[in-house]
Amino acid sequence: MININDLSYWEKTSYFEGIDFLVIGAGIVGYSTAIHLRKKYPNSKILVIERGYLPSGASSKNAGFTCFGSATELLDDLTQYDESTVWETVQKRWEGLSYLRELVGDSSLDLKLNGSWDIIKKGDEAIAGQVHDQMDYLNQKMLEITGEKNAFSEDALLNEKFGISGTFTSFNNRLEGQINTGKMNLAYLDLVHRSSIQVINGIDVSSIQEAPNEVCLLTNIGEIKAANVLVCTNGFAARLIEEDVKPARAQVIVTSVIPDLKLKGTFHFDRGYYYFRNIDGRILLGGGRNLDFEGETTTAMNTTVPIINALKQLLNDMIIPGKQYTIEHEWAGIMGVGNTKKPIVRKYSSRIGIGVRMGGMGVAIGTQVGKDLSSLF
Ligand SMILES: Cc1cc2nc3c(=O)[nH]c(=O)nc-3n(C[C@H](O)[C@H](O)[C@H](O)COP(=O)(O)OP(=O)(O)OC[C@H]3O[C@@H](n4cnc5c(N)ncnc54)[C@H](O)[C@@H]3O)c2cc1C
Repeated sequence: MININDLSYWEKTSYFEGIDFLVIGAGIVGYSTAIHLRKKYPNSKILVIERGYLPSGASSKNAGFTCFGSATELLDDLTQYDESTVWETVQKRWEGLSYLRELVGDSSLDLKLNGSWDIIKKGDEAIAGQVHDQMDYLNQKMLEITGEKNAFSEDALLNEKFGISGTFTSFNNRLEGQINTGKMNLAYLDLVHRSSIQVINGIDVSSIQEAPNEVCLLTNIGEIKAANVLVCTNGFAARLIEEDVKPARAQVIVTSVIPDLKLKGTFHFDRGYYYFRNIDGRILLGGGRNLDFEGETTTAMNTTVPIINALKQLLNDMIIPGKQYTIEHEWAGIMGVGNTKKPIVRKYSSRIGIGVRMGGMGVAIGTQVGKDLSSLF
C-alpha cells in the first residue's frame, strides 16, 4: 500500500487536503451521514473511508429484513427497558425505514412488503398467551406510530401456507418486508457518488485524536487530517472510541434453489435469535448467536462449525423438512450491540461525532441515525 506521503501532488490535493468532513465506515450509517452533510454543506469536501475492499461490517451482509418490531420482541423489551424508550426506538426505526425508502427508492431496494411472522414453537404456548393478552395494546401503539390499524394478527397456518414444521402459532406483522441488501448498498453508493462525495476503500484507521483546529487519524497509509470526523464503525467502534458498544457476530447460510419453494416472507423465532426468508428461490437463514454469546462477541468475520450445523439442523427439522438442497453460501457479519437497543448518536468531542450501536435493526434505523448525526455539525 502506498504511503500517503508518496502520493502525487494531484492525489494529495484532490483527496486528502482540506477535508471538511471525514466519515469513517462505508455502511448505511456512514453513507447516510455523508449524504446529509452534503445537503447541509453543498460546497464542503466530504470523504468516506472504509477499511475493506468492500464494506466489511453488517450493511452488505445482513438478511435484508425491514423489521422494526415483532410482538414477542417488543413484549420482551418492555420487561427490560422503560416503556417510553421502547416505543421511541420503534418510532425511530419506522421513521428510518420510511426515510430509507424515500431516499433510495423502493425499486432500488427491491422492497417486497410480504410481511413478517414471529414464530411460536410447540412448547412455547405460554408466550403465545402473553401476546394474546397484549395484542390490543401492541396494535394501539403501532397505530400511534405508523398510522396503520391492526399491524399484528395471529396466523396459525404456517405449515399449510409455507410448509414450516413444529410451530404452535405465529404473529404476523403485515407492515414488515424484505429488501435485496446487495441492491441497497449499490444504490446507496450511487447516491453518495452523485452527491460528489469521494469513497476510498482500503484505509484502516487505528486511532483518532482531536487537536485544536483539526482531527488527526492514524491509518495504514499514514496520517490523515480533517476538520471534523464522524465515526460510523458500529461493531468495531471500541477500537476508536470508548462507548457501550460491543461486537456481535451473526452467521448466515443460503441454500441452493429449492424447486416449488412455498415459503415467502420474513420469519423469526426465539426472540429474533433465528431468522429466515426467501430470496431468489432459495432460503437465507441466520442466527444462533445465543448458542455461544461469549464466542460470538468478536470482530472476526469467519463462520463456525457448531453454529452453521445448528442452522442446517433447523432447515432439515423445521423450515424445509424433506426438501433436497445444498448450502451454497455462508458468511458472517458484525453487528454493534450494548446494554440498550437505542443507537448512540452524539458529539464525542467538539470535532468528532459518533453514530454507532445499530443492533439487529440497522436497515430500518441506520438512515435516520446518519441524518441525526449530520445534524450535530
Ligand atoms: C448477518 C446479519 C444480519 C442482519 N440482518 C438484519 C436485518 O435483516 N435487518 C436489519 O435491520 N438489520 C440487520 N442486521 C443489522 C444491520 O445490518 C446493521 O445494524 C447495520 O448494517 C449497521 O450499519 P452501520 O453502518 O452502522 O455499520 P456497518 O455496516 O458495520 O459499517 C461500518 C463500517 O465501518 C468499517 N470500519 C470499521 N472499523 C473501521 C476502521 N477502523 N477504519 C475504517 N473502516 C472501519 C467496517 O468495515 C464497516 O464497513 C444484520 C446484521 C448482520 C451482521
